[in-house]
Amino acid sequence: MNKCPYCNTTHNEILQTGFVGCEHCYEEIEPLKEAVKAMYQGKKHKGKRAKNGNI
Ligand SMILES: [Zn+2]
Repeated sequence: MNKCPYCNTTHNEILQTGFVGCEHCYEEIEPLKEAVKAMYQGKKHKGKRAKNGNI
């Protein structure tokens, strides 16, 4: 689904404004869900890059 049934915000609108309509948007709007998932995975990997590590 590309539209949130709770607040009627579409994926396009979110792309344009940069804001979600409500917390359900993250679960209801498919492309957004994927983006959030990717973001979380990115955060996990971030921990492995030690800035004060090997130099
Ligand atoms: Zn919503």
